[in-house]
Amino acid sequence: MSKTRLVENFSFRKPKLHNMILLALLLGTIFGAVFNVDEHKLELRYRVNGTEELVLIEQWESLDFVHGESSETFGRDDQIAILQFFRGFDRTERKNLTLLVYTRDEEEPSRYEEPISIEKVETIATLIRPVGAIFLRLLMFIAIPLVLASLIVGAATLGDIRKVARLGGKTIGIYVATTCVAITIGLTIVNLIKPGDRLPSESQEKLMAAYQPDISTRIEQEVEFDLIDTFVNIVPTNPIEALASAEMLQIVFFAVMVGLTLSLVGKEKAQPLVAFFDSLSATMIKMVNLIMLTAPLGVFALIAATVGEFGFEILQTLFWYAVAVVGGLLLHLFGTISLLVRFVAKVSPRKFFRALRKPMLIAFTTSSSAATLPVNMESTEKNLGVPKQVTSFVLPLGATINMDGTSLYQAVAAVFIAQVYGFDLTLGQQLTVLLTAVLASIGTAPVPGVGIIMLIIVLRAVHIPEEGIALILGVDRILDMSRTVVNIAGDAAVACVVARSEGVLNASAASVNESG
Ligand code: ASP
Repeated sequence: MSKTRLVENFSFRKPKLHNMILLALLLGTIFGAVFNVDEHKLELRYRVNGTEELVLIEQWESLDFVHGESSETFGRDDQIAILQFFRGFDRTERKNLTLLVYTRDEEEPSRYEEPISIEKVETIATLIRPVGAIFLRLLMFIAIPLVLASLIVGAATLGDIRKVARLGGKTIGIYVATTCVAITIGLTIVNLIKPGDRLPSESQEKLMAAYQPDISTRIEQEVEFDLIDTFVNIVPTNPIEALASAEMLQIVFFAVMVGLTLSLVGKEKAQPLVAFFDSLSATMIKMVNLIMLTAPLGVFALIAATVGEFGFEILQTLFWYAVAVVGGLLLHLFGTISLLVRFVAKVSPRKFFRALRKPMLIAFTTSSSAATLPVNMESTEKNLGVPKQVTSFVLPLGATINMDGTSLYQAVAAVFIAQVYGFDLTLGQQLTVLLTAVLASIGTAPVPGVGIIMLIIVLRAVHIPEEGIALILGVDRILDMSRTVVNIAGDAAVACVVARSEGVLNASAASVNESG
């Protein structure tokens, strides 16, 4: 066979990138499950006669911390509680701490003084985390220059403040509407399934003991959210600072202003800058393509590390809660979003979801709308025919303020916690949940694990104890991955709707009649 034939054959058989990413996701999940961090092993570093020793503690029946007169006992399934409890001591306190480890085989406990650190034992699945971290960082660094350049060019070609205002008003209106629908679905499903009533009280106590300390530090973080402040903050005082600190709304504002002004300074003056940003945008898009070639590797590492670290037991405990969240998300994704896409944007839902395979997979593995933004922009433009003018405005805005998945999750979580504590939320209170979840989701930063912190705003509004977050922290990562998929799909759907209503949706790329 000639060399060219060989190459042709190879390229013919070469699997599509999204299939490779999917395969990486599956293999990474299996890898992570096989090399799961052992819940009955701990690595202890302690000091003996001035030198540091390392010991592997396995299969303890009970483990006691003795500190002065007081002591605290933990059982064999309490790995997380042990780690949390130990973290509560500072360096000097640890010097006076003694660990007694009881195993079934030995009558006398093993005794360790002056523990320095207690950690889970890493496995190959968690050790490859840096590979995933590099992939994530590559996606993150590209987002800001991509948004800036594309939006400046987009606004410059739009060239009319009224058009931009109309686009903005429409986009924000639809965003708020879809978020409200998502929350309503969440509230309905959590009231039907009542996952909080299905949680046995001993599980509740165990969850609180294990996650409470972690939660206290999170609650102390700043979770205030003020709509007026957010609004005022959209205007940056220093655009360079906005870019440096990735303030997406400020960047959007600055880019729109520059783009619009460029259309006013005359063609001759505007041309070099427009050409510059156009070239920057094209380069960044190309870079997205290049980075995505490493996606199978990155996705494998990210998912393997996440699954490897995940304690599956907790999923059993919180099974009904997870069912309520994931059920609601699926309903919104394949119900609301499908309907919106089919009847308003006039794009076949099948085509829509096929077009978004890549960004949805990336959102699932990274749990970050911000990291997914470049991929979402690329797929929405290329596969769905939404022009850059629209994607460069609608998608960064959506990544920041439109979180259908997060808001739905926040509604379910708030009511779940209320159910566990035995609070019966009135209709008025459920309405408060709706309104505050809209705000909380707008205030949620598009990075992993922020949705659960902003949930505090919802809990405060209806006087549910904030510590209740400890109940759900253990499964948050999986639910974060799922809600991020819905977050970014919601953004892309609205981009299609806006493009259709502006008459700029590329029909040949996105018509309903077109097959797959
Ligand atoms: N991880 C979510 C996102 O990036 C936000 C959250 O709900 O935590 O969209």
